[in-house]
Amino acid sequence: MNPLSSSSTFPEIIAPVGWRTVDLISDLHLQAGDAATLEVWRGYLQTTSADALFILGDLFEVWVGDDAATQPGFEAECAELLRLTAERLPVYFMHGNRDFLVGAGLAAQANFILLEDPTVLVLHDERWLLSHGDLRCLDDTDYLAYRARVRKPEWQSAVLAKPLAERRALARSMRAQSEDHKRGPDVVWADVDATAARDWLRQAHARTLVHGHTHRPAEHDLGDGLRRVVLSDWDASAHPPRAQVLCLSIAGAQRVDLR
Ligand code: MN
Repeated sequence: MNPLSSSSTFPEIIAPVGWRTVDLISDLHLQAGDAATLEVWRGYLQTTSADALFILGDLFEVWVGDDAATQPGFEAECAELLRLTAERLPVYFMHGNRDFLVGAGLAAQANFILLEDPTVLVLHDERWLLSHGDLRCLDDTDYLAYRARVRKPEWQSAVLAKPLAERRALARSMRAQSEDHKRGPDVVWADVDATAARDWLRQAHARTLVHGHTHRPAEHDLGDGLRRVVLSDWDASAHPPRAQVLCLSIAGAQRVDLR
């Protein structure tokens, strides 16, 4: 079957013919306390020759509301970097499980385009299914229940109605709880379910699912010509440092380590 012959059930971005390369990044987990990763990201944004940038979630370690970027500080600095980048190339942003509160306010301030999860990117007649990845980690049932709750507009408007300082405090306590949970004895790190990934790919008429979230960069053969490509997270202070871009081009997908 011609992969372009029938429409998919997911939203599609059709790359203009002029696009040669598209950069995909995710899981930078940018935060005020990690200046090293922010600097690598800044350098990358200023020098990339890609025709478009797709951010597939968890750009930020936490996002407490778009109003955080309207006052001087870390969030405003990140918004300005995105805005300057968007003057050179289109920037697309998909939510992760940490920065799902990024909204239309930041999108307007930083001039990026919000993406649904998942979205199909059609580039050079190839269909790439893009996702953060958390939705297909089917074994992570506690998280999926939490996700369903916090993605509801009513939950979000109730939280965003709280004062900014209260939201920042809430985020800190949620992070502390999550760290405690991770130290527990029987934590199983959920991964993307292979059957669920294949189902999505068939629905999307795509061969490759690209996602982040799990911080386990790899390429998985799903059979029948289908595959799953996992993006790396970023941590410029790790040994060795992690800061990787997946570049899509006519040649396929290529990992580029920023050093
Ligand atoms: Mn994530």
